[in-house]
Amino acid sequence: MSIKLDPAHWQYFAEGAANLILKSDLPEYRNKLLRVRKLAPGSPSTADINHFYQTQVLPVLGDYYVGTELVALPAGFVATINSRPPAEGQRNDKPLDENESHAFLMESVYDSPDYCQESFKVKSTTFTLCRLPITDGTIDENNSIQEIVLEFKPKWLVPSPNSGDTSLRCRTCALAYKRGKTPGLCPLNLVSNDAAVVERAFAVEFTKLSHHIDPTVYPVAEIVARGLYQSELLDKLKQLQELDGRGILGYDSTQEEIDNDFLTAMAARDCTLFITIKLNHPTPSSCATGGVAPSAEKIVNVGGTDYPIRLKIADIDLKNPSPEKRQYWAEIERSLIEENWYYKKDLPVCTSLANGTV
Ligand SMILES: [Zn+2]
Repeated sequence: MSIKLDPAHWQYFAEGAANLILKSDLPEYRNKLLRVRKLAPGSPSTADINHFYQTQVLPVLGDYYVGTELVALPAGFVATINSRPPAEGQRNDKPLDENESHAFLMESVYDSPDYCQESFKVKSTTFTLCRLPITDGTIDENNSIQEIVLEFKPKWLVPSPNSGDTSLRCRTCALAYKRGKTPGLCPLNLVSNDAAVVERAFAVEFTKLSHHIDPTVYPVAEIVARGLYQSELLDKLKQLQELDGRGILGYDSTQEEIDNDFLTAMAARDCTLFITIKLNHPTPSSCATGGVAPSAEKIVNVGGTDYPIRLKIADIDLKNPSPEKRQYWAEIERSLIEENWYYKKDLPVCTSLANGTV
């Protein structure tokens, strides 16, 4: 795609370990974000990642994957961003890669990005509340919430192929215990075929959300649980993760290269899920234009009220299959097995493995 990007109109918005996210003050980019790669030797280029999206990710996830267009960066764009003093809150850990010729212009998960200024975490989920501004343009905390955007990593939706058929714990929960932490949402509960299991998982996970917003006014746990249960999104993500049927220990570490299927599965185990709940909006059923709604948009009914929600996956990024990375993955898996984290009897068992519902 050929567009003219002027760094003067792009400012820091957020970042991850591998990328910086910029937002624009130009109206044509109001619902767009620009993702530019940080310097990391050996990492795939943005064009390589785009090829990976087009061939491996989008054929399965389609509209569930956040809109991502490859754009050419004009000469000097990255150097200009690098020359700026860090924005407030910016990690400033690594500069952007000045040899990178492309970036991704991404669909924003926020419908009202200018009003989304209030963020907090409940366990591993980040919540962003977007409120309508009052007349002077300021945000009033008492003003009604227009949009709630949740962000979390679904992690390993199928047990590790190396953990054995009778393991008591999924990969995500086993790793949490190994690291001395209490597991949060068990990923296997997210894809349970029992709706009650999914609802209970979110009810427990979001107990402390009531410190921030009133669950009788905004029943977020129920909306999210029902939305995910009714959607095919996690089944499709699971499909990508199941491409790895061998696990890292199934590859001979000295003889055999790990393949694309393994790398796709690893990327899909580390992606982010965004759920946008729209409140105080007319529901699509009352303003429908006769078209078929994209699959990422759903209406969830809780307590007689319809809530339009949107489910989007982002950051399924091709992993760098360097020998160091590969050794790191193998060491984690080997220690989970050797230290018995999948089978220890004195720790809670993952519900879905105990019930045989996976
Ligand atoms: Zn688990």
